[in-house]
Amino acid sequence: MKIAVLSGKGGTGKTLVSVNLAAITKNSTYIDCDVEEPNGHLFFKPQNIQLEDISIKIPTVDEKLCTGCRKCVEFCKFNALAYIKDKVVVFDEVCHSCGGCVLFCPQKAMSEREKKIGSIEKGNSENVTVVTGILKPGEASGVPIIKQLIKEVENKEGFTFIDSPPGSACVVMESIKDADYCILVAEPTLFGVHNLQMVHELVKLFKKPYGVVLNKCLNEENLAEKFCIENDISIIGRIPFDHQLGMLNSNGMISVRENDKYRDMFSDILQKVTKEVQREATINP
Ligand code: SF4
Ligand code: SF4
Repeated sequence: MKIAVLSGKGGTGKTLVSVNLAAITKNSTYIDCDVEEPNGHLFFKPQNIQLEDISIKIPTVDEKLCTGCRKCVEFCKFNALAYIKDKVVVFDEVCHSCGGCVLFCPQKAMSEREKKIGSIEKGNSENVTVVTGILKPGEASGVPIIKQLIKEVENKEGFTFIDSPPGSACVVMESIKDADYCILVAEPTLFGVHNLQMVHELVKLFKKPYGVVLNKCLNEENLAEKFCIENDISIIGRIPFDHQLGMLNSNGMISVRENDKYRDMFSDILQKVTKEVQREATINP
């Protein structure tokens, strides 16, 4: 079962939720798709790390064969090619590695070179396999790394928890497209509601079953909760704004490994998710 955890912005608590859910589950996998700023490994401190480089293919031009026809420049819909001072110039940062220009060049003057854009680290932390995607600073898109992360868990048995990037851009879409269930983490403020709306629209678009975990709950009006009630959205958990939890979190500790109170709280969320996924499977087999 693949469970993606997402939120409209960073710092809302999606790493807290995905790390703790993975830690209470036997033989689970945690994948950190927040490739620009992965931080789940700071909690898990995985051992026996294996490293894999992730590369993309970028076109390169053989100037001896190029006749300057500019057909490749006209072909590229991403404006990743230009013809400047009698030369084809490739803008690596905006190239989507579609390979079209290489096929299209009538002179066969284009070929492809590998360009490293990041890496994947795989290790273990007690019962959890921890897989972390890391995008090199300055690289435009983490999508190829996320694709590889998702491929790593394609045929995995048991639970996989996907810590999605914040927001609702293409990297988030890539991270949820194979998920069986999406957990949306929301803060109680007006800004939190706005962020929740963004990811809510996204999961509806992808027709994913979903539920909301309200984070940083106090004994006062909770606008995210109000939004959920008004829109008939299932609330599957409430995490209190709690000093002890905050201390554990800021010290890089996994709360369910430290305190039974948090173990019960996250177990309850996981039970609700499992029931929802089973219910969904009976409705849409
Ligand atoms: S299509 Fe080929 S020959 Fe024409 S400008 Fe591009 S690289 Fe040169
Ligand atoms: S590989 Fe695709 S995106 Fe990159 S330069 Fe060629 S046509 Fe453009």
